[in-house]
Amino acid sequence: MPSQFIPFHVPAIGAEEIRAVVDTLESGWLTSGTKVKRFEDDFAEYVNSGTAALHLALDAIGIRQHDEVIVPTMTFTATAEVVLYFRAKPVLVDCQRDTLNLDPNQIAAAITSKTKAIIPVHFGGQPCDMTPILEIAKAYKLRVIEDAAHALPATYRGKRVGTIGDITCFSFYATKTITTGEGGMATTENSEWAERMRMMSLHGISHDAWKRYTKEGSWYYEVICPGFKYNLTDIAAAIGIEQLSKCTELWKARKRIAYVYDKCFADLPEIQIPSCQPNLEHAWHLYVIQLNLDHLKITRNQFIEELREQGIGTSVHFIPLHLHPYYRDTFGYKPQDFPNARLAFERIVSLPIYPRMTEADVESVIGAVSKIVKQNRR
Ligand SMILES: *Cc1c(COP(=O)(O)O)cnc(C)c1O
Repeated sequence: MPSQFIPFHVPAIGAEEIRAVVDTLESGWLTSGTKVKRFEDDFAEYVNSGTAALHLALDAIGIRQHDEVIVPTMTFTATAEVVLYFRAKPVLVDCQRDTLNLDPNQIAAAITSKTKAIIPVHFGGQPCDMTPILEIAKAYKLRVIEDAAHALPATYRGKRVGTIGDITCFSFYATKTITTGEGGMATTENSEWAERMRMMSLHGISHDAWKRYTKEGSWYYEVICPGFKYNLTDIAAAIGIEQLSKCTELWKARKRIAYVYDKCFADLPEIQIPSCQPNLEHAWHLYVIQLNLDHLKITRNQFIEELREQGIGTSVHFIPLHLHPYYRDTFGYKPQDFPNARLAFERIVSLPIYPRMTEADVESVIGAVSKIVKQNRR
């Protein structure tokens, strides 16, 4: 393996984040306090993961046992797992072939009298086609909880992701577009849901720590509900405040890399570049190419292995949920039930795309991809 390995992802942590963490540690307040409050004021309700945000969102809209929730099969298990926390049923739907986003035309067929919500996932950071999804939700009286783990910052028809559906959930996991190590956020315009999520994120008690231990608070609290332990730490929020202030700058850096990749791969018929729809801004969390296997002598797995030998780290987003043993065996899904996702799975490769990549790194990825393609043309 070459000595210069380009990893699939490196978080963009700078001196500012390091200083902010040290300041927080020195302040003596480690758990949820003024930093989390400040991070929230910049935005919305902060929790300790994107999964927690999704869980709280489904609780807020009142999901119960035996309800059904529409989930794309082309996603990470967290999107469907949170439905199972309620003993409700995730009902999988196929993706579009080009964008790999939930196919709005296949949602209606999956709706039953038990369906309560749809969780569109903005795959790779490209917003789903929300207009038809919101129309279906309205027609069938369903809630829309957006899994925007990849989609900060993104816009759809001029609206920021986070202001479109009923509740939107973001992730600040280490590989996401901004990170707090582990962390997440839920946004909503419904104050009742916001209050419910805030309460349930800290044991279902009626005050949070920053109020209890400051002048305006007291030792008194009431348990309203058996809630969860999903609060974000001030250490994480200190990083988050710095990361959020760089969010646009980091996005521009990723967008520039996507532009260069697009341009350089355009004349390789073996590589299908990400399909970008009009009237939206892609967050470019992922850059997912699809291999035209008819034009190649190697499989996707061999392609990934050859890239690794050339010193390029990659990943696969995602192994569709219906192919995993749990979802397959529990709900009886067969591979061919979702032909678009199944076909895409054999062809997708996520290339490195993050602000810490140098121009030389980007050139190395392009050089390696081109070389492998040329050596393995059919
Ligand atoms: C990362 C991710 C999540 C979960 O976020 P965590 O912060 O890791 O809990 C949910 N959905 C999708 C699509 C993701 O990629």
